Amino acid sequence: MDNYKNSKHPYIPLLGSKGLKIMAHEIIMPKAGIDMTEGQIVKWLKKEGDPVAAGEIILEIMTDKTSMEIEAEASGVLLKIVRQDGENVPITEVIGYIGEAGEEIKPDEPEPEKPAQEEPVEKSLTRLEDSYNVIVIGGGPAGYVAAIRAAQHGAKVAIVEKNVFGGTCLNVGCIPTKTYLKSGEIIEGLQMAAARGIIFENTSFKVDMPKVVEHKNSVVKKLTSGVEALLRSNKVDIFKGTAKISKNKDVIVDDSKVIKGDKIILAGGSKVSQINIPGIKHPGVLSSDALLALEELPESLAIIGGGVIGIEMAQAFGELGSKITVVEMMDRIIPGIDEEASDVLAAYLKKKGAKIMTSTKVAEIKDKNGKVEIVTDNGSVVADKVLLSVGRLPDMEGIGEIEFEMERGKIKVDKYMETSVKGIYAPGDINGIKMLAHVAFRMGEVAADNAVKGNNRELKLHSAPSVVYTLPEVAMVGLTEKEAREKYDVRVGRFNFAANGRALASGESTGFVKVIADTKYGEILGVHIVGPAAAEMINQASLLMEMEITVDEVIK
Ligand code: FAD
Repeated sequence: MDNYKNSKHPYIPLLGSKGLKIMAHEIIMPKAGIDMTEGQIVKWLKKEGDPVAAGEIILEIMTDKTSMEIEAEASGVLLKIVRQDGENVPITEVIGYIGEAGEEIKPDEPEPEKPAQEEPVEKSLTRLEDSYNVIVIGGGPAGYVAAIRAAQHGAKVAIVEKNVFGGTCLNVGCIPTKTYLKSGEIIEGLQMAAARGIIFENTSFKVDMPKVVEHKNSVVKKLTSGVEALLRSNKVDIFKGTAKISKNKDVIVDDSKVIKGDKIILAGGSKVSQINIPGIKHPGVLSSDALLALEELPESLAIIGGGVIGIEMAQAFGELGSKITVVEMMDRIIPGIDEEASDVLAAYLKKKGAKIMTSTKVAEIKDKNGKVEIVTDNGSVVADKVLLSVGRLPDMEGIGEIEFEMERGKIKVDKYMETSVKGIYAPGDINGIKMLAHVAFRMGEVAADNAVKGNNRELKLHSAPSVVYTLPEVAMVGLTEKEAREKYDVRVGRFNFAANGRALASGESTGFVKVIADTKYGEILGVHIVGPAAAEMINQASLLMEMEITVDEVIK
């Protein structure tokens, strides 16, 4: 990206320290995308007067799509910061100057006009003057995407968040687990190194858990502040507090502020669910939120619930060094994935030292000399910490005084994401259809489109993939082999990574690719991948299914 060439402003001549006339370098708001018209200055990383080197990152900006770091294109001193943190600036406008130390920018040089400050959000009144086209409750993947989408359609939008923007996914879900899993992958790589002829002089390593947590928190912070900046740059009004819907469909924040709107998008998401057994309140029994904040690596970790979250945690903490036991009520781990995939993953985890107890029911939790004992119908397990990972429940705090039609404890929605109450939409985990972040994004988009433009866009999820980010990765789209056989006459194609040259070369030969198609028309019904880069490859399968391309066409 060239920060200068697009500039409408001429270079400003300055007098150098040796009395020579020099040209100060303008730093401008770059055009970082076809549709970009302005960007927000998230943060200057240098102060006026600080030395800067060409190529050094000097500020962060936020476009309508992403956050990015801007490098200095010249060495010298940051002479002047023209536009401050938080300001929205049109593209190509000057935001600062780099020049020689001690120089001043000519006083008569016109400074770019500052835009009128945005109206601060009213904090104290009980009834806000403004009325909104759309009010979004919840700033997780479903909510923030819905808010931005509705604003991009030209709607006047408010969003209310009671905690930190980004919701479960960014704060205590997808992103924290993925940073831990990556650390685990690095450790796995170190362990593989010797077999490949890479010998460390000192082969021991240790895990500095507070540093692991700090790193995870820094990734989370970057993303969550990016979400807030994105909302602001899309002119969405932000309210911090707990929202509840009143009988007459107003949104009340913190029981005091009334926001009026035409449509409501209730995207309250989900929270960890509990089981009601004796001893469950033992302090050593943790939720996934608490486990991800733990600054001391437990020597042993038992996990109640071998679903996606439980197994990703087993993998991550196992690689970091905890001794893992998984207790699962069903006859296999992650029962929702293809049986064969589940078997390969279980075998791999066992090979890495995890103990997996399936068809095992937990009866009670007891204290055992400060440790936690899980009493099951299959014997007892003692561990330093226990992760309770038995699913998630919708967070219903936002429903307030409204009575919605429910379905198995979740808010029932139709294909337009509208609830039984007209004008109130409920995308994301709160409807329990498929509790995944990318599905929540899509539901948020559908809800926003329909809320602003009338119910036209339907939610279609048949080609939405799911991934378990373990080693090996497991990814799937469509039906499992068992489900497909129950409904269709099927043909199944299967290929093992053990026979794949690239996988062997990488030392990642565990797993397979399985394609299930209907015999009559060749329609692809499901694809299951266990192995390297499964999360990336599954998108091709997803696309093929979305385009309704048959297996025979793919073969050709
Ligand atoms: P949430 O993310 O839960 O967001 C809801 C937001 O609404 C929250 O910020 C909450 O504070 C706010 N809120 C609730 N009620 C109110 C109220 N009354 N007033 C104001 N604000 C309110 N999915 C994947 O696709 N891939 C993964 O790898 C993955 N990993 C995960 C790992 C873990 C450990 C967990 C727990 C989940 C994971 N998920 C993953 C699932 C994913 O996080 C969720 O599907 C996704 O966050 C759902 O988005 P949402 O917007 O519906 O709800």
